Amino acid sequence: MAPLADRAPQQSTASPAAPPAGHPPVLPNYPRAHVPTKPVLSRDSFRRAGGHAPSILDTREALLVTSGRVAIALALRQMGVGPGDRVLMPSYHCASMIEPVVWLGATPVFYRIHGDTQVNLEDVAAKLAGAKVMLATNYFGFPQNLSALRAFCDQHQLMLLEDCAHCFLGEHQGRPVGSFGDYAIASTMKFFPIYEGGCLVSARHSLAPVRLQAGGFKFEAKMAVNALEDGFEYRRLGTVRRLLALPLGLKNFLLGQLKRHSHGAPAAMAPRSSEGGFGFDPAWLHKRGSLFSRLMLRLVSRGRMGELRRSNYLRLQSALAGLPGCRPLHAVLPERVYPWVFPLYVDLPGPVFDSLKKDGVPIVRFAEYLWQGVDATVCSNSVELSRHVLQFPCHQELQEQELDWMIDKIKTAMLAARAP
Ligand SMILES: *Cc1c(COP(=O)(O)O)cnc(C)c1O
Repeated sequence: MAPLADRAPQQSTASPAAPPAGHPPVLPNYPRAHVPTKPVLSRDSFRRAGGHAPSILDTREALLVTSGRVAIALALRQMGVGPGDRVLMPSYHCASMIEPVVWLGATPVFYRIHGDTQVNLEDVAAKLAGAKVMLATNYFGFPQNLSALRAFCDQHQLMLLEDCAHCFLGEHQGRPVGSFGDYAIASTMKFFPIYEGGCLVSARHSLAPVRLQAGGFKFEAKMAVNALEDGFEYRRLGTVRRLLALPLGLKNFLLGQLKRHSHGAPAAMAPRSSEGGFGFDPAWLHKRGSLFSRLMLRLVSRGRMGELRRSNYLRLQSALAGLPGCRPLHAVLPERVYPWVFPLYVDLPGPVFDSLKKDGVPIVRFAEYLWQGVDATVCSNSVELSRHVLQFPCHQELQEQELDWMIDKIKTAMLAARAP
């Protein structure tokens, strides 16, 4: 994501910044979130805690790239998807999942999901004709019934692409997420205090044919500087900032240099995905993730990440239990599930969203805009989830008082929305 100062103030989500064609943008001028929507770097990020958390990177082969959408495109290519092919895609999605399919010249065929976000296999079975790949998403960090999906795909000679963008950590029946698909992808920037990052893994195929190149000095510098800047922005690195007067001077120097040398082509320095946009930019297809991001993936404690995501989620769940006008999308948090966000079904999402955004409460709206043509006749559950499910951060860098503040604001907004 962009340094906060550069970010469009109205941007409400970790996914779209602008809706795809056919959806007129509605962009009220909301203040920037008072609390970080995604993890920012803090001194605690590296603290070991929580024991082992299974992750998509436990899979045999992994490549670190610059975004999840790029990893989707690479995976589809490895599976031989090209012009004229049909790819089974969930009706509940964000545009950045669909863009790579369209970019490859293939046609997305949208299948239904159930109200709890599980894949509707009966509907997939009815849409198999001519499809060779199915993408399935482990929404919000809650895995699909992956063994059933795997068996279904084997039975129908389909290849499975597991979308773990929300599910960097987790397991199903004792095996890590990402190990059921022919390929799996993740969006590491959703889980780590980094500015850009995605990964492509495979438990079944060699990734050797995928060639990656380094992004170059400017890219490396900008990615490190931006990630640090997010940490400073939310005052997570206060003491570090004082201690590191020199590196900060260095940072300003670097930024100055970058600005001077990037006249006319600032976009080329960072993948657009990191700015929260929809866009799929093929220029980033074969770029290796930045040194900084790769270092963070090694150093940031996954155990602590998993433990805190669970405890923050449970705190939101118990604080909001019984609140009128809303309910958690999932009644319980199963063992070994490490959520990306806390999804809350809200009866009157319009006024609640608006009042929370005005107060600077961070809200993620995955799937706020569905692809053109995906309406209630295609999948009424997806349309309903798209409208009613607001997601609140539960990431490992939220502080206790920030969570309490968020909870308080959510309660107030829910009660106000009910008032006549
Ligand atoms: C965010 C997201 C992606 C794409 O990841 P980026 O890193 O933003 O490119 C893919 N699938 C799902 C379900 C996502 O939420």
